[in-house]
Amino acid sequence: MNAPRKVEVSGEAGYSIEIGPGLLADGARLARALRGRHALVVSDGNVAPLYLDGALAALAEAKPGLSVATFTIPPGEHEKTLERFTECLHALSELGATRDATVLALGGGVVGDLAGFAAACWMRGIDCVQLPTTLLAMVDSSVGGKTAVDLPSGKNLVGAFHPPRAVIADTSTLRTLPDRELRAGLAEVVKYGAIFDAGFLDWLESHADALLARDDAALAEAIARSCAFKADVVARDPYERGDRAMLNFGHTFGHAIETEQGYAGTTGDGLNHGEAVAVGMVLAARLSAALGRAGAADAERLQRLLERLGLPVRIPAGLDPQALLARMRLDKKADASGLRFVLWDRAGAARIVSGVADEQVLAVLREG
Ligand code: NAD
Ligand code: MG
Repeated sequence: MNAPRKVEVSGEAGYSIEIGPGLLADGARLARALRGRHALVVSDGNVAPLYLDGALAALAEAKPGLSVATFTIPPGEHEKTLERFTECLHALSELGATRDATVLALGGGVVGDLAGFAAACWMRGIDCVQLPTTLLAMVDSSVGGKTAVDLPSGKNLVGAFHPPRAVIADTSTLRTLPDRELRAGLAEVVKYGAIFDAGFLDWLESHADALLARDDAALAEAIARSCAFKADVVARDPYERGDRAMLNFGHTFGHAIETEQGYAGTTGDGLNHGEAVAVGMVLAARLSAALGRAGAADAERLQRLLERLGLPVRIPAGLDPQALLARMRLDKKADASGLRFVLWDRAGAARIVSGVADEQVLAVLREG
């Protein structure tokens, strides 16, 4: 096995992200991330049957005295609730978890957000080690310390900033990830290039086929480069008071599409988050061009790359531009002078822009 890639997140609560195939079978590596005698592994009903036993066996061999329990939730965003969070705390209580206990989050972003939030709250904060198994979790949700659960009235309304102690991304797990989930993760990968680095977009263009074919080396490279971008922005702005909001490129439009569809993507009939972000990035690029900030050719290039990766680039039929605009106005991203967007000056150079007029947004939405 090649040595895993390593990306460091610097700062007071710094940690490393290790990326490579087979890491979940490396008990010594897992054990190094644990400080105490108790560990709770949180997972979901799709991931646990595939990877839980292997990880537990590796850990038991490397750290025989460890007292381990598991807590498995049914899969899906609708399980990221306060009720599951409470159950997770009860599991920690039953384990007799002390302040040096560790929560291991084995799964996608749903498991990572829920387990991370439980770790943030148990005894006012214990270690969380993220073991992401979706591409989205590897490049986005496991890094940066945002944890949360949803309320019926909205996503991620209850949560905390709680950086993980370590992130260990076993890229072999991506072999079982459904195609649609893989593509959703690729949308967030493209986002990093769009915001920070046109050279990374070139690289993605030339490796699109390898990524879709789940070539190990291409995936590891894409994940490591994405994590480095995220690590950098998170270290500069851990609490999202400034620059970190750039990571919302495509997300203002994307969230409006997701909410207007009633999060149908989580049940299969609408766009999922990554797909909505893909459409949203094309709209943000077109809005940038319409405002005279960037050339139209950049928007077309972004659109072509996303299409090659099998992602949608147009607003789904039946969604009303006025209704989408109303959603954006409600989405904390509007002030008296107009809407706030992450736009770009050109591919690889994004910035936050306030005071965008409704009419300009509507014109882009009407084009679809
Ligand atoms: P997810 O956790 O629901 O996983 C997607 C699906 O893939 C699930 O059905 C899951 O069971 C399955 N799965 C996971 N790994 C698998 C594997 N290796 N093989 C087969 N199936 C597998 O979704 P996600 O896209 O990973 O994460 C989305 C969540 O992440 C949302 O709740 C979102 O709010 C959150 N998020 C958080 C942050 C953050 O900074 N904390 C950032 C982005 C997204
Ligand atoms: Mg996102």
